[in-house]
Amino acid sequence: MNFKYPVYSPYLNGREKALVLDCLESTWISSKGKYVGQFEDTFASWLGVQRALTVSNGTVALHVALAALGIGPGDEVLVPTLTYIASANAVKYTGAEVVFVDSERDYWQLDIEDAERKITSKTKAIMVVHLYGQATDMDAVMALAKKHSLYVIEDCAEALGTRYRGRPVGTIGDVGCFSFFGNKTITTGEGGMVVSNNHEIADKVMHLKGQGVCREREYWHDAIGFNYRMTNLCAAIGCAQMESIDDLIAKKLQIAQWYREGLAGVPVHMHQTNPDTFHSFWMVSILVEEASERDALRAELGLASIETRPLFYPVHQMEMYSSPGSSFPVADDLSRRGINLPSYPALSRDDVAYICGHIRDYFAEQKTVLEPQMESKL
Ligand SMILES: *Cc1c(COP(=O)(O)O)cnc(C)c1O
Repeated sequence: MNFKYPVYSPYLNGREKALVLDCLESTWISSKGKYVGQFEDTFASWLGVQRALTVSNGTVALHVALAALGIGPGDEVLVPTLTYIASANAVKYTGAEVVFVDSERDYWQLDIEDAERKITSKTKAIMVVHLYGQATDMDAVMALAKKHSLYVIEDCAEALGTRYRGRPVGTIGDVGCFSFFGNKTITTGEGGMVVSNNHEIADKVMHLKGQGVCREREYWHDAIGFNYRMTNLCAAIGCAQMESIDDLIAKKLQIAQWYREGLAGVPVHMHQTNPDTFHSFWMVSILVEEASERDALRAELGLASIETRPLFYPVHQMEMYSSPGSSFPVADDLSRRGINLPSYPALSRDDVAYICGHIRDYFAEQKTVLEPQMESKL
């Protein structure tokens, strides 16, 4: 089904076409060519990090980062269960075990107390996921990691431009990973980036993402690496996207503000912003009060050609990740009540007003249907 107001669509209003055409004309369409290095340099300096390395998507960014840290069989990695499946899958690819952590209620990020309870002698790392553009409490995460000698991997796929106490996410832990899928804050079609201020880690990522080729000897491989390289074509799109990044982030903030105004007085809770953070609002998300209302509201919006999405299903609910004996009450509850609203950068003020009007109407109708019944019960 095609919606007039999709949850997301990429914003390609810059020099994307011209730079891709330049690649084609130059015949440098594979993973060598000037745009790869240019995209990495621009990204690193925009973010304020020593090293940025392109990869073919956000999932392999996480995998190669974990591999570079030496995570493997016998190790455990803490991961919030309320995330996109790729965060957990990347840990599994290394042979390590995923240990799920519940969420905190206010900002929907990893619950630090639950994380500490789940640390064992096998725990090697903690993966934080800055969900929907909000940041995790990184002071607490870094203190916990220090206390237990854990690596910190930041999954920033949804948090390009997000800051925690003024610091860009992705630059606080040992390694940060970004995604440039079509619905992410900037896109290269498919693509990803691994960033670090630690040269040793960055060198390992570099080595592993390019088939483990030896630096000193051509066609000699001294590790079982991967082909996780980004193409010059994708990097060209990335370079064009970087020219609009500040505008894109400003648009997202504006859209979130329009929703906040439009939903004032409606019985839904907008994803809150932790005052210690700069929330980049990859997605504007709301919670309804009763889980039972969620799908009815979504259906009603669908009739008005407004696409919505349920919040992620917590990964522990998927059969291959079932964790008997553990419970994740907050993540389960958020997931049942949460909705992602259209959040694409080209939304206008009128579009957001139209969407908010339909949400408001839904609750107004519910009230007129429900109230007479309630009265008759009294
Ligand atoms: C999108 C996403 C990924 C994976 O990125 P891809 O580029 O789609 O592989 C990983 N983690 C989170 C939290 C994401 O939202």
